Amino acid sequence: MNKNIVSLGEFGLIEHITHNFTVQNPSTVHGPGDDAAVIDAGEKYLLVSTDLLLEGIHFDLTYTPFAHLGYKVVVVGISDIYAMNGCPQQVTVSVGLSAKLDLPQVEEFYRGVRMACEQYGVDLAGGDTSSSLTGFSISVTAVGKVGKDKITYRSGAQINDLICVTGNLGAAYMGLQLLEREKRALAGVADPKPRFEGYSYILQRQLKPEAQAGLIESLAENGIVPTAMIDISDGLASEMLHICKASGCGARIYLDKLPIAHETYAMAEELHADPVVAALNGGDDYEMLFIVPLAMREKLTNVSGIDLIGHITKEGTGAALVTPDGEEIALQAPGWKNEE
Ligand SMILES: [Mg+2]
Repeated sequence: MNKNIVSLGEFGLIEHITHNFTVQNPSTVHGPGDDAAVIDAGEKYLLVSTDLLLEGIHFDLTYTPFAHLGYKVVVVGISDIYAMNGCPQQVTVSVGLSAKLDLPQVEEFYRGVRMACEQYGVDLAGGDTSSSLTGFSISVTAVGKVGKDKITYRSGAQINDLICVTGNLGAAYMGLQLLEREKRALAGVADPKPRFEGYSYILQRQLKPEAQAGLIESLAENGIVPTAMIDISDGLASEMLHICKASGCGARIYLDKLPIAHETYAMAEELHADPVVAALNGGDDYEMLFIVPLAMREKLTNVSGIDLIGHITKEGTGAALVTPDGEEIALQAPGWKNEE
């Protein structure tokens, strides 16, 4: 990629290429800049989200089983529909197939797609296939619906709102580090036998992440509509900064409140890595970051599997991690994946 594109950053580039498009149809409620496009479909809003996954950038076929990859691309797609507080209904999956792929591998990939479709109750509703000169390329488009009174953008966070997160963070990144370590150690070995015993949790978090369907159901059951929400695909820090920018606010996240699994701590110790950096910048967790008014605190106790990790502060205060001794460290987002 050319330096003048790299220097814009992923989101700078999106702004750069979209700023002079004007909306021509009143049904286009919200264009680029959130987890999904929002289209007025009458009684409800239609949500549409597209993701591109490229071999060598987003996945490595050395250690990624095809069925897992198929499952993951559906999860990546529908996670963005949940992030708008919506319910996914269809996906389309398009693939560019390189010459080295054979039919059983493609069948395995679509077996994974089918498993995810069954798991989340969505239908494969289309797609395209092509040959590819640059490795396995995948594009997934997810479509869903949301009630007009329930739609949740990144932009509604208010001062003093509570910052909440599902599950735990950093495990997928540690799984990736383990896979990369074994790949390096076994490069050129005729019959490689990677050492994966005892690491199943972090491996599963990397290779077979799940989308947060349960959260969306639980929020609806308890009458909670978040003021802002985003799925954690690039790491907590990056997603928090997106919400702060879109909402015009600051944030304080408390280091000792970050949910980090013991398996993540164990792998970090083994690799002499920092589990907090994995949680903040690791990515691929597909947990949900959501913001809720302080007055909803009582209702939140009925929502299982979540943690309160901080609160929204006023505009201009920045987004920071607060250590137990009160020190504030500014949150920073990493740039492109494999940006060369
Ligand atoms: Mg997203």
